[in-house]
Amino acid sequence: MKKTFNLILFVFALSVAAMAQTKPTIYILATGGTIAGTGTGSNDADSEYKAGAITVNALLEAVPEINDLANVKGEQVVNIGSQDMNDEVWLKLGKRVNELLRQNDVTGIVITHGTDTQEETAYFLNLVVKSDKPVVLVGSMRPSTAISADGPRNIYNAVACAVAPESKGKGVMVVMDDKILGADDLTKTNTLSVGTFENPNYGPLGIVYGGKPIYTREPLKRHTIKSEFDITKVNKLPRVEIILSYSNATSLFVDAAVKAGAKGIVTAGVGNGNMTTVMQNSLAKYVKEGKIAVVRSSRIMTGPTAQWDEVNDDKLGFSASWYNNPYRSRVLLMLALTKTTDYKEIQRMFAEY
Ligand code: GLU
Repeated sequence: MKKTFNLILFVFALSVAAMAQTKPTIYILATGGTIAGTGTGSNDADSEYKAGAITVNALLEAVPEINDLANVKGEQVVNIGSQDMNDEVWLKLGKRVNELLRQNDVTGIVITHGTDTQEETAYFLNLVVKSDKPVVLVGSMRPSTAISADGPRNIYNAVACAVAPESKGKGVMVVMDDKILGADDLTKTNTLSVGTFENPNYGPLGIVYGGKPIYTREPLKRHTIKSEFDITKVNKLPRVEIILSYSNATSLFVDAAVKAGAKGIVTAGVGNGNMTTVMQNSLAKYVKEGKIAVVRSSRIMTGPTAQWDEVNDDKLGFSASWYNNPYRSRVLLMLALTKTTDYKEIQRMFAEY
């Protein structure tokens, strides 16, 4: 009797092990943010709110259902509010993602991240990841202790997208509020809403429905395995600043940025990437002296910053950002400057990425 029981136990253990083997392996790399945040109460306006307070293991324990989808392995990369995200963490994260995705037994990666700068990290990875396996960023707008915390559902959906074969080749994605958004046009549009992320120019890549992704568009720009940018040997990124234009803007911040050693300036211009004449002349002077590269972008949320409109970019030695907003433009210019300072070559990149 005891023998039979042991045999049944052995067969059961074997089949559990076999099931674990057939499940895809997903790494969750945690960086902090509200998804790992706590408050002492459940109010939205909790004064004790703290981003990046709980660890990756505690995060995963809150969503045991993900273990039905994958063998999930967690790694804590940093635990910060994403307003403190920086180049050093980007390079560390990009290199670790590439290292993990080179392993045959890794199906995809989910990165938990604060929402404040999620669009910048997503776009950086979109340009430096050297794999077509799914890389999904996920965050939440409510801390883990809030009523109707959105984190657990978002994590479940992110893992569901990361394991789905149809998610391959989509570039880096953000999965939140049942939407799948492309890094190519990712924009935080609302300071509080759980549906804050949009692809305002191109529309979302798809939705998550019934625990499965449904894709409705392909990414439109070069990304991941088709990207020319390689951070394998990069230990420091060139300094690029964003400078806002507004009525009466002077050259004050342009002068300060150049003096501080900026190698590139992205303008968050008015309208179709315009700026005050004094600011434009100051930027053109520094370009002529070979001190900086300039990319014109716009403070308007939608529409391209197009070449050949009111500004003669060729005459000034500027490049236009097309559909990249100032924040994505800064990321692209940083990577562009690891390869070239030629404005025409930079212009080509802004048309392609
Ligand atoms: N400011 C924090 C961050 O971006 C919390 C905001 C959030 O995650 O929604 O990490």
